[in-house]
Amino acid sequence: MNTYFGNIGIAISTLWDGLCVTMGHFIRKKKLNATLQYPRERWPIPERHIGFEEAKYNVIRCRLHVDIDDCIGCMQCVRACPVDCIKIVTVKLPKDTELGSLPGSTQTSATSKGSPKRLLVARFDIDLAVCMYCNLCTYPCPEECIYMVGGPNGHRHPIDYEFSERDRNRLVYRFATATDEEVAVAVAAAGKKPAPTTATTTATATATVTKKAPGKAGDTRLEK
Ligand code: SF4
Ligand code: SF4
Repeated sequence: MNTYFGNIGIAISTLWDGLCVTMGHFIRKKKLNATLQYPRERWPIPERHIGFEEAKYNVIRCRLHVDIDDCIGCMQCVRACPVDCIKIVTVKLPKDTELGSLPGSTQTSATSKGSPKRLLVARFDIDLAVCMYCNLCTYPCPEECIYMVGGPNGHRHPIDYEFSERDRNRLVYRFATATDEEVAVAVAAAGKKPAPTTATTTATATATVTKKAPGKAGDTRLEK
Protein backbone atom coordinates (compact mmCIF):
# COMPACT_ATOMS: atom_id res chain seq x y z
CA MET A 1 0.00 0.00 0.00
CA ASN A 2 2.86 2.37 0.85
CA THR A 3 4.42 1.71 -2.53
CA TYR A 4 1.10 2.45 -4.24
CA PHE A 5 0.68 5.87 -2.65
CA GLY A 6 4.42 6.52 -3.00
CA ASN A 7 4.18 6.07 -6.80
CA ILE A 8 1.19 8.41 -6.93
CA GLY A 9 3.20 11.01 -5.03
CA ILE A 10 6.17 10.66 -7.42
CA ALA A 11 3.82 11.00 -10.41
CA ILE A 12 2.29 14.19 -9.03
CA SER A 13 5.73 15.53 -8.13
CA THR A 14 7.20 14.94 -11.60
CA LEU A 15 4.06 16.35 -13.22
CA TRP A 16 4.44 19.47 -11.11
CA ASP A 17 8.13 19.76 -12.01
CA GLY A 18 7.29 19.56 -15.71
CA LEU A 19 4.56 22.16 -15.40
CA CYS A 20 6.95 24.47 -13.54
CA VAL A 21 9.46 24.23 -16.40
CA THR A 22 6.72 24.96 -18.96
CA MET A 23 5.31 27.85 -16.96
CA GLY A 24 8.82 29.23 -16.45
CA HIS A 25 9.35 29.40 -20.24
CA PHE A 26 5.86 30.82 -20.69
CA ILE A 27 6.38 33.62 -18.15
CA ARG A 28 9.99 34.40 -19.08
CA LYS A 29 9.27 34.26 -22.78
CA LYS A 30 12.20 35.54 -24.83
CA LYS A 31 12.10 36.77 -28.33
CA LEU A 32 12.73 34.03 -30.92
CA ASN A 33 12.73 31.13 -28.41
CA ALA A 34 9.43 29.77 -29.74
CA THR A 35 8.82 27.66 -32.81
CA LEU A 36 9.59 29.63 -35.91
CA GLN A 37 6.54 30.19 -38.09
CA TYR A 38 8.33 29.04 -41.23
CA PRO A 39 8.12 30.00 -44.09
CA ARG A 40 6.45 33.23 -42.94
CA GLU A 41 9.31 33.75 -40.50
CA ARG A 42 12.92 32.87 -41.18
CA TRP A 43 16.07 32.93 -39.16
CA PRO A 44 18.54 35.51 -40.38
CA ILE A 45 21.38 34.12 -42.46
CA PRO A 46 24.67 34.38 -40.58
CA GLU A 47 27.00 36.61 -42.50
CA ARG A 48 30.14 34.70 -41.61
CA HIS A 49 31.62 31.94 -39.49
CA ILE A 50 29.28 29.10 -40.33
CA GLY A 51 31.86 26.49 -39.44
CA PHE A 52 34.13 27.03 -42.43
CA GLU A 53 36.77 29.57 -43.19
CA GLU A 54 35.46 31.90 -45.85
CA ALA A 55 37.99 30.61 -48.37
CA LYS A 56 36.35 27.18 -48.06
CA TYR A 57 32.79 28.35 -48.50
CA ASN A 58 32.90 27.32 -52.08
CA VAL A 59 33.15 23.65 -51.13
CA ILE A 60 29.93 23.65 -49.13
CA ARG A 61 26.67 22.69 -50.77
CA CYS A 62 25.13 25.88 -52.02
CA ARG A 63 23.37 26.41 -55.28
CA LEU A 64 24.79 26.71 -58.76
CA HIS A 65 24.47 29.94 -60.63
CA VAL A 66 25.54 30.84 -64.14
CA ASP A 67 26.53 34.31 -65.30
CA ILE A 68 25.09 33.57 -68.69
CA ASP A 69 26.52 36.67 -70.36
CA ASP A 70 29.97 35.19 -69.83
CA CYS A 71 29.11 31.70 -71.04
CA ILE A 72 30.72 30.74 -74.36
CA GLY A 73 28.83 27.45 -74.68
CA CYS A 74 31.98 25.33 -74.59
CA MET A 75 30.27 22.39 -72.85
CA GLN A 76 33.13 21.81 -70.41
CA CYS A 77 30.71 21.87 -67.49
CA VAL A 78 28.41 19.38 -69.22
CA ARG A 79 31.26 16.95 -69.73
CA ALA A 80 32.38 17.27 -66.12
CA CYS A 81 28.95 16.60 -64.64
CA PRO A 82 28.71 13.00 -63.43
CA VAL A 83 24.92 12.94 -63.37
CA ASP A 84 24.19 14.73 -66.64
CA CYS A 85 21.93 17.37 -65.13
CA ILE A 86 23.23 20.29 -67.21
CA LYS A 87 21.54 20.70 -70.58
CA ILE A 88 22.99 23.18 -73.03
CA VAL A 89 21.99 23.85 -76.60
CA THR A 90 23.98 26.24 -78.73
CA VAL A 91 23.74 27.69 -82.21
CA LYS A 92 27.04 28.19 -84.00
CA LEU A 93 27.36 31.49 -85.80
CA PRO A 94 29.03 31.86 -89.20
CA LYS A 95 32.70 32.79 -89.16
CA ASP A 96 33.36 36.47 -88.39
CA THR A 97 29.77 37.02 -87.26
CA GLU A 98 29.54 38.70 -83.89
CA LEU A 99 26.75 37.63 -81.59
CA GLY A 100 25.83 41.18 -80.69
CA SER A 101 25.61 42.23 -84.32
CA LEU A 102 22.69 39.95 -85.20
CA PRO A 103 19.43 41.81 -85.87
CA GLY A 104 17.55 42.44 -82.63
CA SER A 105 20.28 40.82 -80.54
CA THR A 106 20.54 41.69 -76.86
CA GLN A 107 23.52 39.41 -76.41
CA THR A 108 27.07 40.58 -75.89
CA SER A 109 29.75 39.66 -78.40
CA ALA A 110 32.43 38.95 -75.81
CA THR A 111 32.69 37.80 -72.21
CA SER A 112 33.91 39.95 -69.35
CA LYS A 113 37.30 38.29 -69.85
CA GLY A 114 37.30 39.44 -73.46
CA SER A 115 36.73 36.02 -75.03
CA PRO A 116 34.70 36.23 -78.26
CA LYS A 117 31.34 34.45 -78.15
CA ARG A 118 31.01 32.30 -81.26
CA LEU A 119 27.94 30.41 -80.07
CA LEU A 120 24.51 31.58 -79.06
CA VAL A 121 23.45 29.73 -75.92
CA ALA A 122 19.85 28.90 -76.72
CA ARG A 123 19.30 26.70 -73.69
CA PHE A 124 21.18 26.38 -70.41
CA ASP A 125 19.24 24.36 -67.87
CA ILE A 126 20.41 22.82 -64.62
CA ASP A 127 18.13 20.33 -62.94
CA LEU A 128 18.85 20.89 -59.26
CA ALA A 129 16.62 17.95 -58.35
CA VAL A 130 19.24 15.73 -59.99
CA CYS A 131 22.37 17.75 -59.16
CA MET A 132 24.42 16.29 -56.31
CA TYR A 133 26.24 19.56 -55.59
CA CYS A 134 29.64 18.02 -56.18
CA ASN A 135 30.98 21.30 -57.64
CA LEU A 136 32.85 19.42 -60.39
CA CYS A 137 31.29 21.46 -63.16
CA THR A 138 32.73 24.72 -61.87
CA TYR A 139 36.42 23.84 -62.14
CA PRO A 140 36.83 23.39 -65.92
CA CYS A 141 34.84 26.50 -66.88
CA PRO A 142 37.29 28.73 -68.78
CA GLU A 143 35.21 31.84 -68.07
CA GLU A 144 34.52 30.98 -64.40
CA CYS A 145 30.90 31.82 -65.04
CA ILE A 146 29.33 28.75 -63.41
CA TYR A 147 29.83 28.70 -59.67
CA MET A 148 28.34 27.95 -56.28
CA VAL A 149 26.72 31.03 -54.80
CA GLY A 150 27.89 32.69 -51.60
CA GLY A 151 31.26 32.55 -49.86
CA PRO A 152 34.07 33.82 -52.06
CA ASN A 153 31.45 34.33 -54.77
CA GLY A 154 29.28 36.41 -52.46
CA HIS A 155 30.14 39.57 -54.35
CA ARG A 156 28.87 37.92 -57.53
CA HIS A 157 25.69 36.39 -56.18
CA PRO A 158 24.11 36.17 -52.70
CA ILE A 159 23.69 32.86 -50.94
CA ASP A 160 20.24 31.25 -50.91
CA TYR A 161 18.23 30.79 -47.74
CA GLU A 162 16.74 27.62 -49.13
CA PHE A 163 15.25 26.61 -52.44
CA SER A 164 12.95 23.68 -51.72
CA GLU A 165 9.94 23.21 -53.95
CA ARG A 166 6.80 21.07 -53.97
CA ASP A 167 7.05 20.55 -57.72
CA ARG A 168 10.27 18.94 -58.97
CA ASN A 169 9.91 20.69 -62.31
CA ARG A 170 10.44 24.00 -60.54
CA LEU A 171 13.94 22.84 -59.63
CA VAL A 172 14.98 23.05 -63.27
CA TYR A 173 16.75 26.39 -63.39
CA ARG A 174 16.89 28.02 -66.78
CA PHE A 175 19.73 30.45 -67.26
CA ALA A 176 19.64 31.14 -70.99
CA THR A 177 18.37 34.62 -71.76
CA ALA A 178 18.17 34.34 -75.55
CA THR A 179 14.64 34.92 -76.76
CA ASP A 180 12.95 32.69 -79.31
CA GLU A 181 13.38 35.47 -81.85
CA GLU A 182 17.11 35.76 -81.16
CA VAL A 183 17.53 32.00 -81.49
CA ALA A 184 15.55 31.99 -84.73
CA VAL A 185 17.75 34.75 -86.16
CA ALA A 186 20.91 32.91 -85.10
CA VAL A 187 19.67 29.63 -86.57
CA ALA A 188 18.84 31.40 -89.84
CA ALA A 189 22.25 33.08 -89.89
CA ALA A 190 23.90 29.75 -89.23
CA GLY A 191 22.11 28.17 -92.16
CA LYS A 192 20.22 25.90 -89.78
CA LYS A 193 23.42 24.17 -88.75
CA PRO A 194 23.57 23.86 -84.98
CA ALA A 195 26.94 23.85 -83.28
CA PRO A 196 28.75 20.50 -83.12
CA THR A 197 28.12 19.90 -79.45
CA THR A 198 27.27 16.72 -77.56
CA ALA A 199 25.15 14.05 -79.15
CA THR A 200 22.20 14.74 -76.92
CA THR A 201 22.12 18.43 -77.62
CA THR A 202 22.86 18.84 -81.33
CA ALA A 203 19.75 17.01 -82.38
CA THR A 204 17.54 19.35 -80.42
CA ALA A 205 19.20 22.65 -81.24
CA THR A 206 16.64 23.91 -83.70
CA ALA A 207 13.74 22.33 -81.88
CA THR A 208 14.64 24.34 -78.82
CA VAL A 209 13.69 27.49 -80.67
CA THR A 210 10.08 26.78 -79.84
CA LYS A 211 10.27 24.05 -77.24
CA LYS A 212 11.80 24.97 -73.90
CA ALA A 213 12.07 22.77 -70.85
CA PRO A 214 9.83 23.42 -67.84
CA GLY A 215 11.37 25.31 -64.99
CA LYS A 216 12.25 28.88 -64.34
CA ALA A 217 14.86 31.50 -64.87
CA GLY A 218 17.87 31.04 -62.65
CA ASP A 219 17.36 33.94 -60.29
CA THR A 220 13.65 34.37 -59.83
CA ARG A 221 13.65 32.79 -56.37
CA LEU A 222 15.96 35.37 -54.93
CA GLU A 223 13.57 38.12 -55.85
CA LYS A 224 10.80 36.68 -53.63
S1 SF4 B 1 27.49 20.32 -58.98
FE1 SF4 B 1 28.05 18.27 -59.75
S2 SF4 B 1 26.09 17.24 -60.13
FE2 SF4 B 1 25.64 19.43 -59.95
S3 SF4 B 1 25.67 20.21 -62.06
FE3 SF4 B 1 27.76 20.49 -61.21
S4 SF4 B 1 28.88 18.63 -61.80
FE4 SF4 B 1 26.69 18.20 -62.07
S1 SF4 C 1 32.06 25.56 -68.91
FE1 SF4 C 1 31.46 27.69 -68.48
S2 SF4 C 1 31.61 28.73 -70.46
FE2 SF4 C 1 31.59 26.54 -70.89
S3 SF4 C 1 29.39 26.04 -71.24
FE3 SF4 C 1 29.79 25.68 -69.06
S4 SF4 C 1 29.27 27.60 -68.03
FE4 SF4 C 1 29.48 28.05 -70.21
